[in-house]
Amino acid sequence: MKISAEIKNLKPYVPGKPISETKREFGLKSVVKMASNENPLGASPKALAAIKKAAKEINLYPDGACFELKEAYAKEFGLNPNQLVFGNGSDELLNILMQIYCSPGDKIVTFENSFIAYKIAAQAHSLLVNEICLKDNFEYDITGLLDFIHNRWTDQHKLIFIANPNNPTGSYIRNKDFAELVTSVREREDLLLIIDEAYVEFARSQDYAYASRFLSTCPNLLILRTFSKVYGLAGARVGTLIGNKDVIDLVNRVRVPFNVNAFAQFAAVAALKDKTHIKKSQKIVWQGLDYFYEELGHLGLKFWPSEGNFILTDIGQDSGRIYNELLKRGLILRPLKPYGLNTHLRISVGTKTENKLAIKLLREVLGKK
Ligand SMILES: *Cc1c(COP(=O)(O)O)cnc(C)c1O
Repeated sequence: MKISAEIKNLKPYVPGKPISETKREFGLKSVVKMASNENPLGASPKALAAIKKAAKEINLYPDGACFELKEAYAKEFGLNPNQLVFGNGSDELLNILMQIYCSPGDKIVTFENSFIAYKIAAQAHSLLVNEICLKDNFEYDITGLLDFIHNRWTDQHKLIFIANPNNPTGSYIRNKDFAELVTSVREREDLLLIIDEAYVEFARSQDYAYASRFLSTCPNLLILRTFSKVYGLAGARVGTLIGNKDVIDLVNRVRVPFNVNAFAQFAAVAALKDKTHIKKSQKIVWQGLDYFYEELGHLGLKFWPSEGNFILTDIGQDSGRIYNELLKRGLILRPLKPYGLNTHLRISVGTKTENKLAIKLLREVLGKK
């Protein structure tokens, strides 16, 4: 059977190396993973209790409409339930958006050195990708994006994907820039602006742009969020799409009927309500980032301030060997070659002990005093 070149050449997403695999390969008893921006505290105890309770009814199909989760989420963030749909991770939702709005040969726009899942999904849907350059310090060049939208947008261009904060650079869109972007696109019926707020809960900068502030004035703005990061439910797979009800309605028609499983739904509702765990998770990340700023500085490594729960550092040499040396010592970090960053590693903030271990091992492996 004939298969398209895009599918044949598709390189699957390379996730952070799993702990179990690293233990097996290197014969290690203990391994620390700081490679996938997961919550180092684990899930909320309330979410774990909810999963246990949900197990009793696991013979039944889940609620295909995620009614309780939708109500709880809408209440929490002051939204209307008809502005919300949930997915098997936000990954599923961004794929559905491409399925709905794009045909083979169409184009999406995103930034270079940004979340690679957009590009992989695009290729899987036989779409082309236009990447806007970042500024030298990895900051978003919104002027560059606006220039593209005004001068290079064609009938083939459909969707814009921006991660705010960005993974893997930790950079963000400023309020002022975001307002300008919204003003430029809100009357355009030929594009959707999709802001991926996977790390929104970790943003600390005063001028960080919360996309939700612009929802009421920008009908073609969509927001992706996830339960994989601050809520500690990466393994449960729950993502949220927020947007105008016409888009949400289309997603509801296209998605499979039971895309969010029962464990995930119950866990997400409980996690949403556990403010104590959320605050604790934010605090550990913020303290950890401050620790890394100081210690990476001591090691003389270049790094970029981060609005996420991870930090990007340039180790000044090919990251492959260092990554391997760290693996041997039981530490998994994230090499960023697939992102075109050959001498960079991304470190997910861990617990205090894990952060210390990461610095100790980096010092050792890099041969620093
Ligand atoms: C981790 C991450 C997500 C989350 O994806 P899920 O499929 O919801 O687990 C989304 N966007 C970015 C930029 C991320 O880094």
